[in-house]
Amino acid sequence: MRRPADIDALQHVLCAALGSREPVCSLAQLGQDADAFNTLDPAMLKRPTLVGGGTPYSPTTPAPASHTLDELIRRAQSLDVPQILVPNVRRSDDTSALRAAGLVPVPAGSECVSRLTGDVDDLLRGRVGAGRLRDLRRRHHAASRDVTWERIRLSELDRKPWARDAFAQLHQRHMERYGGSHNPYNPDALDALAHGALADRTEMFVRRRENTVVQVGLLSESHNGRGLYYLTQAIDHEDPAARHNLYVASLYRLYLHARRSGLDWVHLGRGDAEGKRGLGADLFVPLDHWLRAPDLAPPEEEEEPALSRFAAPPVTTVPVPGPARFRHRPRFDLLDLSGNTNPFLGAESRYPELDTVELARTYLTTVSKLPGHEGVGALSTDHLLFTSGAVDGVMLLLAALASPGERVCVTPPTFELYAHFASVLRLPVVEVPLRGEDLSELDTERILAADPRVTILCDPNNPVGTRLGRAQVHALVTGTRGLVVIDEAYVEFSENPSYAELVEEYDNLIVLRTLSKAWGLAGARCGIALAHPGVVDALRRVQVPLGFTNASQRAVRDRLTNSQRALVSIRRIRAERDRMAAALAGHPVVDRVFPSETNFLLVRLHKHERVMDQLRGAGILVADTGGLVPATCRISIGTRRANNTLLEALSSAR
Ligand code: PMP
Repeated sequence: MRRPADIDALQHVLCAALGSREPVCSLAQLGQDADAFNTLDPAMLKRPTLVGGGTPYSPTTPAPASHTLDELIRRAQSLDVPQILVPNVRRSDDTSALRAAGLVPVPAGSECVSRLTGDVDDLLRGRVGAGRLRDLRRRHHAASRDVTWERIRLSELDRKPWARDAFAQLHQRHMERYGGSHNPYNPDALDALAHGALADRTEMFVRRRENTVVQVGLLSESHNGRGLYYLTQAIDHEDPAARHNLYVASLYRLYLHARRSGLDWVHLGRGDAEGKRGLGADLFVPLDHWLRAPDLAPPEEEEEPALSRFAAPPVTTVPVPGPARFRHRPRFDLLDLSGNTNPFLGAESRYPELDTVELARTYLTTVSKLPGHEGVGALSTDHLLFTSGAVDGVMLLLAALASPGERVCVTPPTFELYAHFASVLRLPVVEVPLRGEDLSELDTERILAADPRVTILCDPNNPVGTRLGRAQVHALVTGTRGLVVIDEAYVEFSENPSYAELVEEYDNLIVLRTLSKAWGLAGARCGIALAHPGVVDALRRVQVPLGFTNASQRAVRDRLTNSQRALVSIRRIRAERDRMAAALAGHPVVDRVFPSETNFLLVRLHKHERVMDQLRGAGILVADTGGLVPATCRISIGTRRANNTLLEALSSAR
């Protein structure tokens, strides 16, 4: 967050740019920012507007409190200006004062931040992929060979008039190229910046090719010295590809510089998230301009999603505990003196990032590309809760949504931890076994007759590997008075669709997912609960705060933003599973291989005990599932080599 002094300083710059004593201009004059106002009445675009609380430049404006707004309204009245604009307020801020004062939000895109919590190349490899990283490095090296890189403190600018002139010229050309009507970074604005409160923290960077200035920009260090705002830049080249080249090369250089200086983030300004993601940005905070105009209708009151009707006391009366309450406040630019941690030992000494909204969006977007997940991208991030693995999700939902004594139904053979957690929480367990040759049919009638508070299904089912009958699952969700939980830990390996998108429709459905299986992140302990926002709220209230560690968040972000490798490996595992199923089916010690839509095979053996002993003797560990399905073992699909080793070991068993 910027200090009020910073906002004042930037407002002086705006006044200088506008050539006026008061920060009053038409919305149309705000240059590129006019795009955000396209949907407004053209008359509003032309009207004089008091720009308050900040400037339309990239750095964000803290949401003003009511006394600031009173002052702003008073000033507007004394200037006889009918409109007020408070630009670039984070959507996650408390905007109640703005609403109460009759201002209306106008979406203004997102601020894009690249967080730098480790080696720059490692980070970028995870975020943009190895190929793109090579490309960034190549551009950087090429640019470094023929373009210099100088940095000039703004407080020293008076002694370098050539840099000042170059800045003005390049920005003027930049503005003409993009057809803007006004250049907010003109010489007067630059002077105001160079003699204002930000001068000591702001520097100009200049790149020259054979003594001709080809790029200029402004970098401002954040007030707590932890990050860098990339305020503006202009490049002198007619070719858009060459301009992009130099921009990208400079950004990579800036990341290296920021990292070497011990900074934690670089703020890339506002922009299109996809484009900036390709440049390494990993945090996108939605912004709004807030506008008060005589003919603009006040915004409709946003209703907080109601807590789920399934929330069990005392969850109905307790708040989300501890700092997790503030999860919507992005913390990248806060001076945090609240955590009682040791500031001298690097990034890991800080508590984990609480704002996981962007990561949630990344998960939903990435997963929606999988077959059978088309509708998942349309879910809101309020439908999602990150948990410490899917098993943690089971514990949370039982604790938040069932009271001691209420029945939990499980359908054996299935994952044993469901019944385990239910018992631990003093919830009676009702077992309604699966039926049919493939153990894939639910006994819906018996489940409904038991009238459980929660029914937990595993689909695809561990240890069998099959999918449950779709019509029966639907019948259960629509027929029960209680909740239905579908653990989809293995669904990425399945040919049939996920139930995830249905959580929008059914408030009694919870879908559990994990990054432990197909996504290869069992060590990061990341599960995902998808449910109605009111259910997610209830789960949050029982969740131990700050359990999603920095290291996990990083691993998850890297895996999801660079998902190609995982997607390719899922296809490989499926192919290898089918090969193994065929090879095992013809094997003399094997009685039956169950059909599988997972990354394991349930195999019934002729001489179960003996074969298990022999595999153990050969140093091969498979799961002995004889206690769940007689005479079976569950074999995970490994690498081709490991799978062949298993086949060989079975061949020598008799
Ligand atoms: N659900 C099922 C059906 C599983 O088989 C497993 C792993 N054995 C889990 C959940 C555990 O997932 P996580 O690692 O996310 O806790």
